[in-house]
Amino acid sequence: MTTQFNPYDSCPCDSGQKAKFCCLTGKLWNKKPNLLKPTKTITDHSHDKCYAKITRNCSTKISGEHFISNNILQGFELNKKVKIVGLPWQEKETFNLLSRSSLVSNILCTTHNELLSPFDAEMGRLHRIIVQFDEDFNSENPKHDLSVFCGENLEKWMLKTACAFIASNQIYSDGVKKDCILKDEYVDILFNDKPFPDNWGMYFKIPDDKQIQKYHSLSFRSLTANNELKVVEFLINNFMFYLVLGQPDNPRSFGIYRPRGIQLAKGNIKKTIEICWQDKKYNEGIFMEHVGTTKEAPKEWDEYLKK
Ligand SMILES: [Zn+2]
Ligand SMILES: [Zn+2]
Repeated sequence: MTTQFNPYDSCPCDSGQKAKFCCLTGKLWNKKPNLLKPTKTITDHSHDKCYAKITRNCSTKISGEHFISNNILQGFELNKKVKIVGLPWQEKETFNLLSRSSLVSNILCTTHNELLSPFDAEMGRLHRIIVQFDEDFNSENPKHDLSVFCGENLEKWMLKTACAFIASNQIYSDGVKKDCILKDEYVDILFNDKPFPDNWGMYFKIPDDKQIQKYHSLSFRSLTANNELKVVEFLINNFMFYLVLGQPDNPRSFGIYRPRGIQLAKGNIKKTIEICWQDKKYNEGIFMEHVGTTKEAPKEWDEYLKK
């Protein structure tokens, strides 16, 4: 997607810098990924409890990480409780109120935990922008909007979240607890900047009825086979993303692989979420019409709301 953006305006990636010196290259957006491979000397320490210990670059302290980004949880918080669907210890299809402190697990050392924070920030921002765009569409004078994201960072947020589920033994599939292997390969992708193998990674699925009912929610569902986590479905305000960890038989069944952007339109007002990928072959965009916002919660939320 090309743009007429003033290069001296502040960059729509929210870095606070001018676009020309940040993500705008000529007329194209390119938000670059945060690479984590250490450039300085490594600690040569492996913390027993850290799932990234094979990198031999741990600190001596374990962190009490929220394995779903704090940054994102804040967006969903109401009276200090978070509504989340499909977390492993919950019964299938039930809705629980959880306190944020119950989402802490000791699975990374402080060094490795801190390294992942740019990915949390990126997904937290995507969540906020989806909400913001929707609210503006419902205002009297909605305006054009543009926000720029890094696809690799969003994809790695999904992988770090999947790893957290595995490392804390909280993968359930069809309501049954599954032990899954945390492969060295995942750690290499996250912390050594190894690329995802072909067709692994992020997909975006347009629902069959082509409608997304945006709703404040966050849900996860896992698909496992042979002690391996194969697919995680992330519903972020009902935007459906998949993380595929393996070569799928039919990649198209998970939707669009590495979408280049999502454009939401209402009349002639357009709001664009640019998703940049370093490999320019990923150029398929998603176009959706904003038809309205339902005030009612989806049916399955009734039970939750009664609590
Ligand atoms: Zn930027
Ligand atoms: Zn570590």
